[in-house]
Amino acid sequence: MEIVVIGGGASGMAAALEAARYGGQVTLVEKENRVGKKLLATGNGRCNYANRFVEPSRFHGQCREIIHEVLQAVPVDEVLTFFQLLGVTPKEESDGKIIPYSEQGSNVLDLLRYELEQAGVKTLVDWKVTSLRHHQKDWLIHSEKGESLTAHRVILATGGRAGSQFGADDSGYRLAESLGHHITPLWPALVQLRLEADWLKALKGVKWQGAASVVEQGIVLRREAGELLITDYGISGPPILQLSRQAHTSANDDASSPKELRIHLLPEWDSETIMDELMNRFHINPDKPADLCLLGLFHKRLVPTLLKAAGIWPPHLPAQQVSATAIKKLAEVCRSWSVPITGTLSWQQAQVTAGGVDTREIHPVTMASTKAPNCYITGELMDVDGDCGGFNLYWAWATGLLAGRNAAMG
Ligand SMILES: Cc1cc2nc3c(=O)[nH]c(=O)nc-3n(C[C@H](O)[C@H](O)[C@H](O)COP(=O)(O)OP(=O)(O)OC[C@H]3O[C@@H](n4cnc5c(N)ncnc54)[C@H](O)[C@@H]3O)c2cc1C
Repeated sequence: MEIVVIGGGASGMAAALEAARYGGQVTLVEKENRVGKKLLATGNGRCNYANRFVEPSRFHGQCREIIHEVLQAVPVDEVLTFFQLLGVTPKEESDGKIIPYSEQGSNVLDLLRYELEQAGVKTLVDWKVTSLRHHQKDWLIHSEKGESLTAHRVILATGGRAGSQFGADDSGYRLAESLGHHITPLWPALVQLRLEADWLKALKGVKWQGAASVVEQGIVLRREAGELLITDYGISGPPILQLSRQAHTSANDDASSPKELRIHLLPEWDSETIMDELMNRFHINPDKPADLCLLGLFHKRLVPTLLKAAGIWPPHLPAQQVSATAIKKLAEVCRSWSVPITGTLSWQQAQVTAGGVDTREIHPVTMASTKAPNCYITGELMDVDGDCGGFNLYWAWATGLLAGRNAAMG
């Protein structure tokens, strides 16, 4: 069985290796000058390649059937064993994140490439597929440079649009469309947020352990805790990346209603505890300037902005001149500080694509296209994206393994 895998990223390499192990004669084609470029950048160079707590709630997409089926068909232990057999010993970090014991993501790529070679997979680089046509039971595959290949089966593993600096583009979507597939709306996810606030420049670089929620029309869509970092465009940090899918807003999509970010400066404290703490601080020394009353609780650079948001101004106003109403307002800002979200950063900064090939057009266990015979679809190209923490690479490996073995077995 001749199989061409289009795209030498995570899911394409897994698919090619599995197809070869199941007896396929496999060619892997990659448009960049080497395979796995994006993989080297994952997990800040440490390649967070899976997560111990893989479960359906960590994945998103319009149709959920495929998520349940894939997670059942390829449990995370199977992915860990796949890598252990390559030589990658797993190290578990906080929140179930799995990285290589060596903490070097490049090891994962080196071992995959070695194994691909051992399994007899032929790899062609600088080979960008521009057209894909089914002709008399075979596939005709053409490259940008005018070369061509034929195959009995093709696996479309071209990834999404996120991480454009690693070569991600929309050519995979165009190929899928040419086969009759529908693409659901695409937007950047696991990405920083843009906020509308006049204090961003003043607070740039301030970071603290807090929490944040995305709210639409008064309804909390999601809340996440962890390190938050103010930037000149808005806000960053692991909780923000996690919230970005839900924060997708009118700036990116005319159809959605405006969303706000609620920043929780003291996430473990309830309203009463915050109020008691502030009252105490303002009453203990009536002559103490208001800004000094908040030191020891908040980052120094946050203080004037907080006081201003509560209408306490100038910041060195003596504590006795601050009214109980102003302290109540300050307590509310500390508990839940509302800021309009104006959008996200671009595809270049995004780690994953939300949206993609409509998964109702992909067989949920074999990854076979229901639109084109003998064609399989994997990874980020489809309308499934995972949370931050190893879920997206798990999805790439799992769908790659399923597509590879089913393509080879036919
Ligand atoms: C900076 C960054 C950090 C990340 N960190 C993590 C992490 O730690 N953990 C995690 O789980 N996920 C992480 N991700 C997400 C994860 O890398 C992707 O979800 C995953 O790589 C998707 O795998 P894929 O095979 O579907 O696509 P990709 O890995 O993007 O591979 C697609 C390949 O296809 C090639 N290609 C595209 N079009 C064509 C064509 N027309 N012809 C030939 N070749 C083509 C591309 O060049 C690419 O090599 C990160 C992403 C980024 C950008």
